[in-house]
Amino acid sequence: MGEKILVVGGGIGGLTAGALLAENGYDITVLEGSNEWGGCAGKFSRKGFLFPVGATLGMGFEKGGIHKRVIDYLNLSVTSQRLDHIMTVHIENKMQIQVLQDRLEHLNNLKSHFQRDKLAIEAFYKKIWKLSNEVKKLMIKLPTIPPQNMREWTFLLQSLSPSSLKLFPYINQTLLSLLRSCGFEEDHLFTQYIDGQLIDSMQTTSKHCQCILGALALDIYHEGAFYVEGGLYVIAELLVHHIKEKGGQALKRRKVVNVNKKGNEWVLSDQKGDTWHGSHVIFNVPIHSLREILNPALFEQLPLKYRKNASTPTWGAFTMYLALKEDQSLDKLPLFQQVISQENKLSDGEHIFLSLSKKGDTLRAPNGFRTLTISTHTDVNRWFNMENYKENKLQLEQKIFNRTQIAIPTIEDQIIYKLSGSPKTWERFTHRPRGMVGGFPQTRHNSLFYSLSHRTPLKNAWLCGDSIFPGAGTIGASVSGYHVFRSITNYNIQI
Ligand SMILES: Cc1cc2nc3c(=O)[nH]c(=O)nc-3n(C[C@H](O)[C@H](O)[C@H](O)COP(=O)(O)OP(=O)(O)OC[C@H]3O[C@@H](n4cnc5c(N)ncnc54)[C@H](O)[C@@H]3O)c2cc1C
Repeated sequence: MGEKILVVGGGIGGLTAGALLAENGYDITVLEGSNEWGGCAGKFSRKGFLFPVGATLGMGFEKGGIHKRVIDYLNLSVTSQRLDHIMTVHIENKMQIQVLQDRLEHLNNLKSHFQRDKLAIEAFYKKIWKLSNEVKKLMIKLPTIPPQNMREWTFLLQSLSPSSLKLFPYINQTLLSLLRSCGFEEDHLFTQYIDGQLIDSMQTTSKHCQCILGALALDIYHEGAFYVEGGLYVIAELLVHHIKEKGGQALKRRKVVNVNKKGNEWVLSDQKGDTWHGSHVIFNVPIHSLREILNPALFEQLPLKYRKNASTPTWGAFTMYLALKEDQSLDKLPLFQQVISQENKLSDGEHIFLSLSKKGDTLRAPNGFRTLTISTHTDVNRWFNMENYKENKLQLEQKIFNRTQIAIPTIEDQIIYKLSGSPKTWERFTHRPRGMVGGFPQTRHNSLFYSLSHRTPLKNAWLCGDSIFPGAGTIGASVSGYHVFRSITNYNIQI
């Protein structure tokens, strides 16, 4: 066995790093605080149903996608289905847009909704595709940004091609400036549609979203969006299985409460009072958790940006989980839908994302039933020290339910079980401080050269997960895990 490596947290980021390292002979121990693997992409079971807690829409399973690269490298297999019809977006009752995988079909479909702006939409997507094509070239090598040492600078420069220069004028732009250059203002219905897409992937809207990343986020659906049988937790469980198969250990119900360094060794204590020793530690917890678990003297050695971000709030999620009786009306519905309010507010039930289990996915529901996960963004601070917590929760549930009826008109007669979770619930089950999820909004001030690196000044302490570059979603978390793996193995292995 090689060097001993401790991983704090069994989310997609930490498990990706752990499994890749285990494959290469490192001695891995993953300590996970909860009862389940996968964190925000995990699951829970109730009354014979299995509910994905958060992440449901799979990206990165196409050729060259990060999950596919990791899965193939480790010789694993996941049953996923590429969606031709990715989702339906309802702008209240006013407009229903089908998001289609094929780029040209999607463009033509959008043009049919916005007849008067056909040329502007075409011009906008041409720019999106141009930007996204350039970024995709960089994604082959997956350089780390911001580079922290000579090797990372060299690797970044080697990843660039002359055509990467096309990206430079957009580094300091927002996606709204791109929309404006094509004639769309903030209050245009098309901008509203774009904002609905961005809030789910970039955690912010066009007004603040970094332009290049926004372009990639809008285009990545067309590379491939996938339904994963059972749910995205399947990836987490496969990675855990792989770690164990390679001789590592992965333990649930082990919440790390203290991290310290003695000599060259990292020493972790969990809530049961057990201690764990390793030469490296990988934190797969949000940066906010470091303030709680890392020895204060070590925490103070982190750069100011890290310490500041550890106190900067991010979004929370309010989620509803429903078990539904199957009937023919569900067969006609897409598996993923969004409902956006006309006021262009994008949180607390004004914007909801719905994920229905596929008919026959018996990992999630027995035959004759389906499960539905609904989520909306919410301000986490509003849920703590709230006087009327129960009433507020009920009110938001009702609001979400009303919007859900736009997407699933027959839902009222089909519900056989329902449950909801506020940021307080998220905090309890994922141990993320204040239930903050999704990482930092990908604004100009938080992304690219302003992101947090996986590398820290603390020797052999590494960071991964959605608050670390490149952030956002299971693909972002997985890429950061890969970056940790690549740095520990001295860039000797590429997947
Ligand atoms: C409602 C919602 C919907 C989403 N939808 C999608 C989607 O459709 N597609 C998509 O790609 N992404 C989606 N995402 C985002 C995606 O789920 C996350 O970005 C990603 O899963 C984060 O992975 P991670 O490795 O950073 O961290 P996490 O998933 O948070 O994992 C961290 C793990 O560490 C554990 N932990 C925390 N503290 C400790 C401690 N002290 N000791 C031990 N263990 C600890 C936690 O229990 C957790 O299991 C969604 C997120 C949410 C909240």
